[in-house]
Amino acid sequence: MLLNVTNIHKTYQAADGPFEVLRGVDLTLEAGETLALTGESGSGKSTLLHLIGGLDTPDQGMIMVDGRDIAALDDEGRAELRRGKVGVVFQQFNLIPSLKVADNIAFQARLGGRHEAGWTEVLADRMGLTPHLAKYPEQLSGGQQQRVAIARTLAPKPALVLADEPTGNLDETTAGTVMDLMLELVTEAGAGLLMVTHSETLAARMSRGLHLRAGRVA
Ligand code: ADP
Ligand code: MG
Repeated sequence: MLLNVTNIHKTYQAADGPFEVLRGVDLTLEAGETLALTGESGSGKSTLLHLIGGLDTPDQGMIMVDGRDIAALDDEGRAELRRGKVGVVFQQFNLIPSLKVADNIAFQARLGGRHEAGWTEVLADRMGLTPHLAKYPEQLSGGQQQRVAIARTLAPKPALVLADEPTGNLDETTAGTVMDLMLELVTEAGAGLLMVTHSETLAARMSRGLHLRAGRVA
């Protein structure tokens, strides 16, 4: 089992008191599976993804990634996880403006000591980015920038890819193309993908779907 999430609870302190966003979430994901996570705005999708990605810690529950409970890791352990085993893609591209495309793609892998020049080149090629490697992010379209962000996430060869509405800022056609590329690469790598999406069309391309409602998986 690549990912095993059990009984996750998370409460935020809001102005009018504590608010329990996640109330016992369970989910599993096998290597090679792609899972679409849907739910109304504010249902806790991003919160759940952040917890699984080790960007935040749950109040209760267990998150096993490849057999390790990441809720028990310290900051350094969780940072290390994100440089290697787990890759995260957000709706905002979060590219580094002062780095060329080639260096943005290699950034995460270099940080984690997992850089392989040959693989980075293959990724850039598959993503149609070879002609843009010497450019800066601001010289690219939104769809191209998101492909750079996805390539950067895939460069360290993560076993688990977490994506939070990764194509939410793109028009429908571009979103479809970017999504196809990501699904292809993730599937080929035998990685698992957990993706938050609003789009029924995109969700339908994935192997399974889960809906978050009232703090639980419905
Ligand atoms: P989704 O991604 O499904 O739209 P989120 O996980 O972003 O939902 O947010 C779920 C709920 O938790 C929302 O009501 C949001 O306002 C609240 N929330 C999210 N992050 C925080 C935070 N850091 N502090 C307080 N409340 C938060
Ligand atoms: Mg969200």
